[in-house]
Amino acid sequence: MPTRPNILWMLVVLLLWPAALPAQESGLRLKTVVIDAGHGGHDPGAVSKASKLSEKQINLDLALKLGARISKEYPDVKVIYTRKTDKFVELAERGNIANRNHADLFISIHVNSAKASAASGTETFVMGTDKSASNMAVCQRENAVILLEDDYTTTYEGFDPDNPESYIIFNLMQNAHFEQSIAFASLVQRNFIDKGPITKSRGVRQAPLMVLWRTTMPSVLVEVGFLSNAGDRTKLNQAENRQKIADDIFDAFVTFKKQYDSDGSFSFDPTLLETPDDDPEEEEHALPAPVVGPHFEIQILASSKKLKNGSPDLKGVQEYRCRFINGMYKYSVGNFSTKEEAARRLPAIQKKFPGAFVVRID
Ligand SMILES: [Zn+2]
Repeated sequence: MPTRPNILWMLVVLLLWPAALPAQESGLRLKTVVIDAGHGGHDPGAVSKASKLSEKQINLDLALKLGARISKEYPDVKVIYTRKTDKFVELAERGNIANRNHADLFISIHVNSAKASAASGTETFVMGTDKSASNMAVCQRENAVILLEDDYTTTYEGFDPDNPESYIIFNLMQNAHFEQSIAFASLVQRNFIDKGPITKSRGVRQAPLMVLWRTTMPSVLVEVGFLSNAGDRTKLNQAENRQKIADDIFDAFVTFKKQYDSDGSFSFDPTLLETPDDDPEEEEHALPAPVVGPHFEIQILASSKKLKNGSPDLKGVQEYRCRFINGMYKYSVGNFSTKEEAARRLPAIQKKFPGAFVVRID
């Protein structure tokens, strides 16, 4: 039953509120963190053949170590994992888990890989907003994906991907957390540099990574080192070093939570935002590791020229495989154990790539 508000009582509360809670001027508390161990199940991520080490194992170990420390030292903080076992979770679902649980922070953990074995070091990504025009183009193309989710209207609170005016709201949501994401990313990189075990930093970077842009809270993707680099690999292979890496991220969490829970103002070290010149050979991390054994994929494109990462022809698709077959570069997505599974997914892909079809890869 609706009651009439007691104006005087409300006034008293308003007057006393800041005094009663001096450390919470913003009224915000970091209550829920989602930790996302990248890859899993039939998606191993980067793989080191020599030492039989796969990215998915390292990601999971780091995620569990980080979560354990947060749970131990902040029992009132809810720690949610996108996976706690070696299972496959769709990229879109990872962000959805964070959104559904109204998380205050999303940390995705990955290990890098590059063709050039010299590439090494750590880097932390935030969803990029610096190239506004191109980012929005990616946003519009990629937003169509949410139509495939059963509960997109609730997840996005009325957001309509078919209505161009809706996108303004989404862009604001993205910008609203940009500074906080940068702040957390900077804290992570600072700790990596200062405490190791992998002290070489590739900086804080911005990229239109699918798993990040759909989250509605400060979100980062941490690349903890290169599995393709002997030095990094040796460190990542040792449990005590993985604990140190988890501790570095945990220490960033401690500082970030302090700022978040107090006045909500964040400071960061701008020098960390200066990234070294990119070696194109090193830009392999966005691509999933090649899948071995017979399986099915969905071919989206064929081209006589090799397309660059981020080419408009790829329509914003980040995770694809490229094979050079019979003089053509063939681009495909997905990894299905049966033809039926691939066929079920095909109509969704065809919305973007009308000519897409299922291919068998042996
Ligand atoms: Zn990864």
